[in-house]
Amino acid sequence: MTAEREPGPSVLIVEDDDATRSALRRDLVARGFKVEDVRGGGEALQRWEARRPDVVLVDLGLPDMDGTRIIARIRREATTPILVISARDAEATKVEALELGADDYVTKPFGTAELHARLRAVLRRAGGPSADASGRVAVGPLVLDALRHEVTVEGRRVDLTPREFEILRVLLAHPGRLVTRGRLLRAVWGDAYRGEDHYVHVYVSQVRRKLAAADPEGSLRRLIVTEPGVGYRVGAEE
Ligand code: CA
Repeated sequence: MTAEREPGPSVLIVEDDDATRSALRRDLVARGFKVEDVRGGGEALQRWEARRPDVVLVDLGLPDMDGTRIIARIRREATTPILVISARDAEATKVEALELGADDYVTKPFGTAELHARLRAVLRRAGGPSADASGRVAVGPLVLDALRHEVTVEGRRVDLTPREFEILRVLLAHPGRLVTRGRLLRAVWGDAYRGEDHYVHVYVSQVRRKLAAADPEGSLRRLIVTEPGVGYRVGAEE
């Protein structure tokens, strides 16, 4: 529960072409991402289960399965941004990937500037409809920056673990709406933890405690409102 806070967004690269994969890896590490990369779909799904990265880059033509299977699987469980990297420029394939829930695509060969721009855009949108153009969600003195993976209260940084950050991100992406414990659990931990709702309770308590410590005036006291027996709702600040 005291996992080290990671430096930037974590990205999972799924690409069987060695040259492309290592070029992507170098570029994204240099830009502050925490990178994991795999060659095949089976391995990709295992990493997805274990790590819940902040964003997934997926090639459609993989040796062991079609990349669209990975997209469909991730979308059954989570809203994690997915960027398709593909040599196929057939419109139908791109449309299929997007309809399955991919957020955007780049066609090989692509420049790193283009890739990075698309990546930033999908990460920004991960902040939800309430995020501003730079991916920040603000509620009173609280600011969550989806791109920099940072939460501040009155400019003071709140040191959240990756899962605590993800819980807060998912809640803030649904302002005023009820988010059930099961839904939070699936979004942050994955299907393997079905029924383990107590994790959510423990982690939400930690998020509240850390926010309270950074908020001596108590203006965020009612930010995360418990709906007994159901889940949580992000209310307004007082
Ligand atoms: Ca390929």
